[in-house]
Amino acid sequence: MHSLIEHARAFPARADADGWQLAPLAAGQSPQVLFISCSDSRVIPSLICRALPGELFELRTAGNIVPAYSLDRPSGEAATIEFAVQVLRVNDIVVCGHSHCGAVGALVRGDDLTTVPALARWLADTTAHHTASENTGRPDTDSQNTDRPDTDRADTGRRAPGIPQQTAHETTAETTAETTAETADATADDETALTAAVQRHVLTQLDRLRGYPAVRTRLADGTLTLHGWYYQVHTGTVYAHRPCDDTFTPL
Ligand SMILES: [Zn+2]
Repeated sequence: MHSLIEHARAFPARADADGWQLAPLAAGQSPQVLFISCSDSRVIPSLICRALPGELFELRTAGNIVPAYSLDRPSGEAATIEFAVQVLRVNDIVVCGHSHCGAVGALVRGDDLTTVPALARWLADTTAHHTASENTGRPDTDSQNTDRPDTDRADTGRRAPGIPQQTAHETTAETTAETTAETADATADDETALTAAVQRHVLTQLDRLRGYPAVRTRLADGTLTLHGWYYQVHTGTVYAHRPCDDTFTPL
């Protein structure tokens, strides 16, 4: 924490040295983009996009989740989105998922979250409401999560290594090599399953956004564009969803 405090203390001088004009920011903000991402410390939207103060309006939640719009269930997330779209009039909304996401991973694996009940409730709530999908008619990706095809795949992957039956001619080294290879395959399977789940999860959040009245209106009049991104934390590569073929490809 100490180094962070020192950096914060030195920020005015650093901003000045970098030529950032902070004074005009007192007059207000007019960000062009609402950037919705996970709270994960490895994902830093302004760093990824090289955005300056005033350029990105950020919403960060565990698992970059957008709750379904409901006036009966007010949330900071819904208020933030509504403010960005209706008041700030952002032109674009990016929903950015990321690799190695603990929140989505917990959903995929069906982790025991009894020690973090608020998180468990948050994740459960966001997979229990499908209003946006119902509104758009888009395939309900949440229910796919609920049905847990990926959980099955991931579980299968984790079980796959197993312990092979050892026959008389097999050496310990051979067995170890096979087990290592199988473990690597299973890990790769898990990562592939998680990548697919995170990317589908991003699309689910975009569907939820379409259920927000302010978003729906701005989409209808052509003044708002939605983007689905996937950020790979260990390479820094950003993938974007291409609606034309429903794939994520590098920007
Ligand atoms: Zn995450």
